[in-house]
Amino acid sequence: MTQKYSLHTHTIGFDGRDSVQTMVNCSRQLGFNTIGISNHFIVNADIKNSKMYSFAIRGGYDTIYSESFDEVLTRFIPHYEELERIQELNKNTRILRGMEVDFFNIPKWRYGFERILGILTPDYLIGSAHFIEYDGKILNMHDLEKSSPDIQDLLLQKYWKNVAVAAESGLFTWMAHLDLPKKVGLGRDKKWAEYENMAVEAIAKSGTAIEINTSFYKPDCYEPYPSNRILKMVAKNNVPVLLSDDAHNAKDLGRNFDEASQLIKYMNLRTFSR
Ligand SMILES: [Zn+2]
Ligand SMILES: [Zn+2]
Repeated sequence: MTQKYSLHTHTIGFDGRDSVQTMVNCSRQLGFNTIGISNHFIVNADIKNSKMYSFAIRGGYDTIYSESFDEVLTRFIPHYEELERIQELNKNTRILRGMEVDFFNIPKWRYGFERILGILTPDYLIGSAHFIEYDGKILNMHDLEKSSPDIQDLLLQKYWKNVAVAAESGLFTWMAHLDLPKKVGLGRDKKWAEYENMAVEAIAKSGTAIEINTSFYKPDCYEPYPSNRILKMVAKNNVPVLLSDDAHNAKDLGRNFDEASQLIKYMNLRTFSR
């Protein structure tokens, strides 16, 4: 049976295109009784010095990047208040307060993040690694794509280490889009299986789940994140899974859930995240 809820979604005010109310209406039309809103939670003192920040300003989604925990609070406090108001007005849909968090392996970050958890009390946390710290800078996947091949390898190694360390932190309900570098065509070579396996074992050990992220299904590469190679490791390690559409607008809610459900069966994935 196809999953009847969606917990990985983005809305206006962050980098999504539709309002929370529109997302709730659409999820209702799909027969979902629950929706979770999980906007980006990205805090790093150097984030505004990174190359991608100027693109974010031009694209109008720079509000997802904060230099400090106090700054991110000015966005998430009113956002969560809005979610509570909309919950009051829509009693037939359960609305959960989530966030998609970029984990930074810095003690000061961890301390700051735990303070925030006490203030915001989110319902669940999605762990992600959109960034790699290298040479005193913060790089995203597009910077990775543009790097020279030897640096690329080093950055990919760092990427997988970040995923493992994020899972080991025990902070997250599940980990997002495990093989994100394939977004820019990287990490598909067989040699990366060793790193993928290391990350999946760390995830299994920490009791964290993973998502099957259906945003990657494309005509030329018809698969979700992660690849079948990784899903085999997930099955072997009994890591719980759930479906995520990573919807940045209402029409993407529940996208490719049927195909992904077939894949779950085909890959013999038997443990589901609750
Ligand atoms: Zn993401
Ligand atoms: Zn997302």
